[in-house]
Amino acid sequence: MKNDKRVLAFDIGGTKIASGIIKLSEKGYEIFDYQKIPTPKNKKAIINLIVEMALNQKKNGGFKKIRIGIAGQIDNKKGTVIFSPNIKDLKNVNFKKDIQVKISEDVEIENDVKCFALAERKFGKARKYDNVVFLTIGTGIGGAIQVAGNLYRGANNIAGEFGHMTIFSEGKKCECGKVGCWEQYASGRAIENLYDELFGKQKKAKDIALDSKKGLKKDMKVIKQTAEYFAVGLVNIINTVNPEAIIISGSVSKQKEIIDLAKKRALQKTLIPGRNTKIIISDLGDEAILIGAGL
Ligand SMILES: [Zn+2]
Repeated sequence: MKNDKRVLAFDIGGTKIASGIIKLSEKGYEIFDYQKIPTPKNKKAIINLIVEMALNQKKNGGFKKIRIGIAGQIDNKKGTVIFSPNIKDLKNVNFKKDIQVKISEDVEIENDVKCFALAERKFGKARKYDNVVFLTIGTGIGGAIQVAGNLYRGANNIAGEFGHMTIFSEGKKCECGKVGCWEQYASGRAIENLYDELFGKQKKAKDIALDSKKGLKKDMKVIKQTAEYFAVGLVNIINTVNPEAIIISGSVSKQKEIIDLAKKRALQKTLIPGRNTKIIISDLGDEAILIGAGL
């Protein structure tokens, strides 16, 4: 098999690592050897895992380069993970170098939501728009900004970290070290925390959403409140970035009730010209970050 268009891609998240060989062509993309495994807790184990998978893949058809999407703040030029809120051991780690010491391959890393944005722009619903904000809402909230068709990185590659917009000056503590961040109020984890705070009981976000749909009062209260908080962030994004579209993925994006309610509330509250912003759910699925890493 010719390996010149094959990229070994990884999507490293707080709970799982997805990997696969991405083959890009004029027609689109193909994914081979897709795998999902739990994320090891320390950096050494993560790096060893990537090296081991790369060595296996070399015997098995080969690849041209390794591309990695990671949740957190990334210096993509140096290949350093500055901070990854859900993998605490990845702090100021030169990931690229640490891998290349063990296996001499072409390695690049990038923030996972920026990978998602690249995949959306090439193959997803973002194809129709030039100015787009991307949000992934799962355990936390990640974001990316596309301006006139290109990723906007800002001075230090952290542009689009909407999850850490302060929405309460003396709010809940966040993994980033600040307080009152948006992701403490509108993420999957936030839904579970709010339920626990209000009713003293632990319940999974997807069960809360399900029971809210069935009309259970407690669950409805949590979902409504979360949608309100979600709307606050959307208003801030629309009023500051003024995108044509906001494209959303992640587990919370599957909760139509929250998205619909937040969308309605947000568009009522934004400046009048921002009210035609399209708020869209991505249809690329779980492999989007992997595809974007491949791109
Ligand atoms: Zn934060």
